[in-house]
Parts: sequence; C-alpha cells; structure tokens
Amino acid sequence: MIPIQHRDLEKLAQRHWEAIKNYAEKGTKKFDLKYFDDAIKKYFEGITFEQIVLASPSEIDDLVEIWNAHQCKDKEDFQGFLTYYGYLTNGFVRKKENDEETKYSSKDIVESLNISVCPYCNRNYIKLVETERKVKEEIEVTKEEKVKIRIDELDHFYPKKKYPFLAVSFYNLIPSCKTCNQTFKGTKLVSVNPYSKIEEFSFGLKIENSKFYYDKDGFCIDYERAREVLKENYKVFHIKELYDQHKDQVLELIQKQITYPDSYIDELFKKYEGTFFRNKEDVIRHLSNGIMEEENFHLRPLSKLTHDIAQELGLLD
Ligand SMILES: [Zn+2]
Repeated sequence: MIPIQHRDLEKLAQRHWEAIKNYAEKGTKKFDLKYFDDAIKKYFEGITFEQIVLASPSEIDDLVEIWNAHQCKDKEDFQGFLTYYGYLTNGFVRKKENDEETKYSSKDIVESLNISVCPYCNRNYIKLVETERKVKEEIEVTKEEKVKIRIDELDHFYPKKKYPFLAVSFYNLIPSCKTCNQTFKGTKLVSVNPYSKIEEFSFGLKIENSKFYYDKDGFCIDYERAREVLKENYKVFHIKELYDQHKDQVLELIQKQITYPDSYIDELFKKYEGTFFRNKEDVIRHLSNGIMEEENFHLRPLSKLTHDIAQELGLLD
C-alpha cells in the first residue's frame, strides 16, 4: 500500500468536476445538474452535487456515516450517478467553441496521476493499453466488429453498489490493478484510502537462522507495523501471502549488503557523481535492480518493500 501523491491533486479534481458539470449542464437530458442536486438534497442537508464530487477522503467518510444512518434508502434515486460513471469510463464528450470535440474519461484520471503501479498492492502494473477485440454490437445482431477497449481499472473505494452517490466522486476513484479491484476487494470495505495521509510504517526483516544469507527460509519479512497501520487493507489485499512470494528479492538485497562493501559504493559514487549518479541511492539502485525513493514508489512494483528492507540493512542512508 502506497499513497497517491500528486502536486496538483486539487487541480485534477477540479478538472474532473468541470467535465461532469459541463456534460450535465448541456440540458435536455434526464440527468441534469438539477437532478443530481435534488437527489443529494434528499439525504444530505445543505450539500451540493459539486461538494459530493470534490469531497476529500475524510469528508467522504462523514458522508458515508450520514448515508448509513438513513433508515430507508431509495437507491433508484441515484441511478444517474451510476449512469455518469458509465459515461466516465467511455469519456464525456464536450464541444469546444470551434466545434472541435474533446473527451474526458477515466483514462485521463489514471494518466494524469502518473501512477504505474497499483497503490493498494504496490505489486502489479496498471499501465494503460489500447487493444482490439471482437464484440457483438447488440444481442440480436450477430455481426461482430472490432472496437478499441482499454484495460485500466478504477476501484470505487466505497463500492458504488452500496454507495451510488459516490460513483463519480474524485477521491473515491482509485486507479488499481484488476486483482485488487475485482478479485480481492469487490464490494468489501477497506480502511485506508490511498488519497489520504497514511500513517508511517515499514516492512522489516527477522533473521530466523544462520542460513539467512543464502536461503529464503533463513529469514522472515516482518509485517507487524504494516498490519497495524493498514488494518483491513492488509487482510483484503493479502499483503503477507503475496509479499512472501517475493522473498527472493529480499534475499538478493541481503546478499548485496554482504558482497558490496561501503568502500565499493563510495568508489562508484565518486567516479560517476554528476554523470550516472545523483546520490548514493542511485548507486544502490544501480547495484540492486531498482530501489526507488519514497516519492517514486508508485512507479515500480514492490518498491516500498525493497526500500524498507534496504534501509534496515543499512544500504540506504
Ligand atoms: Zn493491486
């Protein structure tokens, strides 16, 4: 689990809202802005649709409490929210003044956040791919045609089935891998939203016996702190079971720590400072197949695990 960090997160949320608003404002539609504001008013006093779309992770938690407290929920009132999420998947089309069409879709969210690896598991890539497949246009039509589809995923932190009013809320849409979104999470609730500030935690190392530097059974990964901080996320996303399958990478780090003395790292750094390496961490990354700095955890699988272990081993300052 790693946080989603972006310098312009608020701007991206604002752009998201503008696209939805622009589409809803065009009028003559069943689901216009008035529809959304009216639906919200029934459950949330003094709150607008705009506030729902832009609600921060903690504000979303508060809204969910209000929603849960309602005795009779008529989910039919919120069909428009789910319909708009469908539009978001395919893209809201808007015409500019010169009649040129622009599109805003879930693809824009994933791309502009510049996330390569799933924030829930920090293990699987979520790169966007456009591909072609044969689909039936309609049930009665047997003709098949090729269309472009994308394989990016947006998880609803609060599932849209139970909480339809959050179906298009920016901070409820988490770019994630298919395994985390569909296989593990589904409609389950987890505790930590990757857009929120996550309490600090590290993965650690427990040496079991003297074989630890050549045998994976000689050590364990210490998950104690991760389990405390991540709570449901830790269980639902099977962090221990999955990460234990990557002990070979931890073993490599242990071996690098033993076989690359500080003097060798210093020597490489001095020789290539300013050309290949900006700092000692760059040297370590070069020697250990890609340890990332904290701000770049979202770019490479298992970056937090390898970083934390390398730090414990004294490979990083
Ligand atoms: Zn994942």
